[in-house]
Amino acid sequence: MTAQEPATDTIAAISTPPGRGGIGIVRLSGPQALSIASQLVRPHQPLEHARARLADVLDAEDPEATRIDEALVTFFAAPNSYTTEDLVEIAAHGSPVVLELLLRRALGLGARLAEPGEFTQRAFLAGRLDLTQAEAVRDLIDAQTLTQARQAASQMGGALSRRVAPVKQSLMGLIALLEAGIDFAEDDVEVTPQAEIARRIEETTPPLTALEASFARGRIVHDGLTLAIVGRPNVGKSSLFNRLVERDRAIVTASPGTTRDTVTERISLGGIPIELVDTAGLREGAREALEEAEQLGIRRSHEALADAALVLVVLDATQPAGDEDQRLLAAVEGRPAIVALNKSDLVKRETAASAIERVPDGIPALSTSALTGEGIPGLRERILTLATGGAAAEPGLLTNLRQHQAVATALAALADAAKANAGGIPHEMILLDLYRALWALDSLTGQTTPDEILNLIFSTFCIGK
Ligand code: GDP
Repeated sequence: MTAQEPATDTIAAISTPPGRGGIGIVRLSGPQALSIASQLVRPHQPLEHARARLADVLDAEDPEATRIDEALVTFFAAPNSYTTEDLVEIAAHGSPVVLELLLRRALGLGARLAEPGEFTQRAFLAGRLDLTQAEAVRDLIDAQTLTQARQAASQMGGALSRRVAPVKQSLMGLIALLEAGIDFAEDDVEVTPQAEIARRIEETTPPLTALEASFARGRIVHDGLTLAIVGRPNVGKSSLFNRLVERDRAIVTASPGTTRDTVTERISLGGIPIELVDTAGLREGAREALEEAEQLGIRRSHEALADAALVLVVLDATQPAGDEDQRLLAAVEGRPAIVALNKSDLVKRETAASAIERVPDGIPALSTSALTGEGIPGLRERILTLATGGAAAEPGLLTNLRQHQAVATALAALADAAKANAGGIPHEMILLDLYRALWALDSLTGQTTPDEILNLIFSTFCIGK
């Protein structure tokens, strides 16, 4: 999709979160933004592009009306604004009643209430942002860790688009070459040799493969992961949970556990949001029969580990591994898991070392003591390595399924093109595959994305952005 006709209507919204706040902002964008704003507020000096002006917020439309608030009003003249339209931001005190009064009056003066994400959608439709950058705006707003915010900022700056641009360029070069060979076949334009086509297709593939692989890290930076802490009762699951939460608790409030019996807390490990699920939850009730409690605990462990991306199996280093421990270990084999041999403070070093040897091959194990804190930094490190799969941070990661799908489609289409070329299929047919690859890459940045998909994407924004 390319730049469209400018919108003829003016949109308005409260851009700050609902509720009371130090300040609150009402935003207007569109051809009437300036004229509507001048009826809402009385600036102490004339409004000028990109200058903040003190202004009285009027209680009614009468010019003699009393002032109900004082605001800072900033006007951005088209095309030098976020939306590329005339845009006015009125930063008043964050009283919901004043902000709502401003909004209601703006609507009465001809503005329309903005849809979620509509300001950014207008910026996109005007060609000011591409789709990956628009998505990054939303990601930045939603960021819960600094790493997520940095990733979003880099994508907003065009890091992902820049990574795709050279691939698109060489793909278009090849398409042009083949098209020319077909269109001007009679004019002695040389037909591109098969080997040359193969070489050019091959050339475009590795950067796309690398980009596709970046989703492994991009996805977890974006979405985070769940780590279930499992093990028999009393091995120290809750104590380890608390140790992990102690320093790295994400600033964001924790979401409540998905079931009554688990406790969840979100931590930020190396900037990656990790939801810890403690399956203990046996504090209240169900303690009458130890046997019963034990069974319940084990069942919860199995349930939790089925849902989690990562598993931390906690064993009591002072006890030999029992049948239940063995079953848990068997259940996590082949999955991303770590074993913590806890209560290491109670056992001799040699005993701890021999306990580690009992853990099946391929599952990393380490000694910890939730009591003294020994081994906890190492545990954090192991969790992070397990979460990222060792993938390093790089600029221009793919962070959502939509983006990943686009790149995967492009790669599949290129593979088809290579196969068609190797099979000596006519160039018209190879071109179909190449165009499919090009469209997939275009849809990544939004050049050829159908309206329904666009609306879906922008509807996930908040109103006022
Ligand atoms: P959970 O049932 O697996 O969640 O185990 P808890 O975390 O409730 O711990 C059970 C008991 O073991 C508590 O009395 C803890 O204080 C104790 N405990 C937990 N971790 C350690 C440890 O590393 N060393 C020692 N000495 N005691 C621990």
